[in-house]
Amino acid sequence: MTKFCSTIPEDGRIGGEHQTLAAVFVIKSAGFCYNFPVNKKKLIVANWKMNPGSVSEARALFGKTKRAGGRLEKVETVICPPFPYLGMFARTGTARVFLGAQDVFWANSARATGEVSPEMLKHLGVIYCIIGHSERRALGETDDSVSKKLRAVLAERLIPIVCVGEKERDTDGRYFETLKSQILASFSGVTGAQLRGVCVAYEPLWAIGKSAKDAMEPRGIHEMAIFIHKVLFDQFGEGAERPRILYGGSVEEKNAGSILVEGGVSGLLVGHASLDGEGFAKMLRVANAV
Ligand code: PEP
Repeated sequence: MTKFCSTIPEDGRIGGEHQTLAAVFVIKSAGFCYNFPVNKKKLIVANWKMNPGSVSEARALFGKTKRAGGRLEKVETVICPPFPYLGMFARTGTARVFLGAQDVFWANSARATGEVSPEMLKHLGVIYCIIGHSERRALGETDDSVSKKLRAVLAERLIPIVCVGEKERDTDGRYFETLKSQILASFSGVTGAQLRGVCVAYEPLWAIGKSAKDAMEPRGIHEMAIFIHKVLFDQFGEGAERPRILYGGSVEEKNAGSILVEGGVSGLLVGHASLDGEGFAKMLRVANAV
């Protein structure tokens, strides 16, 4: 039976100077009180965002990434192109390379100009769906809409990748509380059994869109992965399934290996570095080797 550390206080707050100590304690404690879900395959998700600008570039990037991912036994590669390109790659997924969407609407039928339904995605052969990316949240996505989208995606048997993460860090550790409420609100209405098919992407906003040196340190990522599991465990109870946790925020070829090994995560959500076909192929090979 999985047991969780009770090192992080109920309200998620860890005071300023004690924060590092607490983090170390959580990590050290992890060995005997916590087991991460064991997934032999690493999940590496390419979030192309609003790129590339042309159909021909999209085809070339998709081809390169699919060829690279297709050779790797220990990696599941997910490619999330912008909506207009999804149809071009419809049903081209394999057992190792999957198609993903960057967003979705929360119903299959509604008057919803400009939206795309979970059912439409499914018919295109989409398997994974990003929900609640910070760039969507910045444009008005709320925890409530994330929770509706999550339920709609699960009902359609797509695999959601729910993005969570704090905007900034403070020295009092209040970001733990922020993250906790974001997670609880985003997962409202979901059952513990449904967590099995869910991925949670931890993406601290302050680390997104920079370079590898600005990414979060693996030790900190490990601490946050434990925290996310604890929040869900406390909410859903002992019988609940454990989701896969991914990290996103300035992952590049050079830091991917250490994040996967020391960060205690099941995979990565990769933005800008997924647009460089050669570099991303190298990152996939790194993930395959760890
Ligand atoms: C993202 O936008 O999900 C992301 C992780 O971006 P980047 O890798 O560019 O930081």
